[in-house]
Amino acid sequence: MIQPTAKLTPFGAVNARVNRASDLLGIKENYRKLLTSCWRETKVSLPFTDDKGEMRVYEGYRVQHNGVRGPYKGGVRYHPEVDLDEVKALASLMTWKCAIVNIPFGGAKGGINVDPTKLSDREMQTLTRRFVYSVKNMIGPYKDIMAPDMGTNPKVMGWMMDAYGLIHGYTPAIVTGKPVNLDGTPDRLDATGLGVAMITRRVLEDRKEFLSGKTVVVQGFGNVGSFAALHLHRMNAKVIAIGDVSGVVRDPRGIDVEKLMAHFEAKRTLVGYPEGEFATREQLDVMGIECDILVPAALGHVIHSGNMEKVKARYIIEGANGPITPEADDYLGRQGTIIVPDILANAGGVVGSYFEWAQNIQVHHWERAESKLELDKFMSSALLGVSAAAKKFGINYREAAFVVGVDRVYQAAVARGH
Ligand code: NAD
Repeated sequence: MIQPTAKLTPFGAVNARVNRASDLLGIKENYRKLLTSCWRETKVSLPFTDDKGEMRVYEGYRVQHNGVRGPYKGGVRYHPEVDLDEVKALASLMTWKCAIVNIPFGGAKGGINVDPTKLSDREMQTLTRRFVYSVKNMIGPYKDIMAPDMGTNPKVMGWMMDAYGLIHGYTPAIVTGKPVNLDGTPDRLDATGLGVAMITRRVLEDRKEFLSGKTVVVQGFGNVGSFAALHLHRMNAKVIAIGDVSGVVRDPRGIDVEKLMAHFEAKRTLVGYPEGEFATREQLDVMGIECDILVPAALGHVIHSGNMEKVKARYIIEGANGPITPEADDYLGRQGTIIVPDILANAGGVVGSYFEWAQNIQVHHWERAESKLELDKFMSSALLGVSAAAKKFGINYREAAFVVGVDRVYQAAVARGH
């Protein structure tokens, strides 16, 4: 979740980055206004009847930030703290992320201020259908495409596709991240983690280094962390520690990630893995383990003023959204740590969603090898663009990623005659 900084709201904090990029690009005030405001902000009231027969009302949001490069694209989160400013910030970040990896989408985000863990399946489905009905005229496969986010999953996407289809007919491209047996694609499952591994390899190459034999520490063994660790391991990096909510598995000889995944699949915890050493989170902070590459892929703000001085990694690849606080980011930058920002590092997920959308539109399934090759092309070319901007302006990868994204959106707005 994006946290407000001392003075700025989440949307204000994203706009500060957009303004900094606009300064470097010499973008004039009138265009900045376009880039720092949302095209459409919708709030809907969602009444529904719960399992006890009581009527409840939730608030739903759909924000479309900027669509000059293509249909709006972004997830829908179910979380009790969802609020308009945060949804605007997340929608804006989607605009820049899609532009950085050069896919033809604009940015959007949605949400409902509900705790999904407190809803039955029936309640969740009813609420989801109500939400789709309420925003039915502003979404569409060439207008605005939804996806899973915090608190939603492929099952919810299946209900969304069905709800939209009842009104408009068969339209699988209305959402991505659908179940594989309902026009989803198996490639979407590991796209974010695979993209993290691909970008890590390309960043090292950009700096005349190689991934083979480099030591890696990963925080998080969920969707992003487990597949990032697996693919880095398959690319011959040495994954020496993996931590999650249950603790840390550490092995200086290198963890066999496929074996650890099989253990996790069976036990749903890292505890009890027979190889290497195990420590609790209290005994060992993964952020302080000496390594070449640190991949925080669990939560936001895990590297902060309290532990930033312990970080010894030369590279940090942000698999999670916002894992480094602004203060720690400044500190580590001054120490010479190379940080690959979330907006670039975890963009493999939205590229995977783009592939799913394209296959739905084409009514044609791609081969796995084809998708992997395509993902690598998008991630590599994104890194090349960001690296070139970093060199041109003498800035870090985070600032450079915003420069690339803002420039592409600005150029498209000008070309449209805005
Ligand atoms: P997930 O729920 O599948 O996994 C989260 C992981 O974090 C789990 O392994 C959990 O054990 C671990 N964790 C939770 N609390 C922890 C703690 N206190 N200390 C250590 N580990 C802890 O989530 P995910 O889909 O892998 O997403 C992870 C991050 O990546 C989030 O910030 C998410 O917003 C971001 N992200 C995800 C995707 C995607 O496609 N899944 C795309 C872009 C960004």
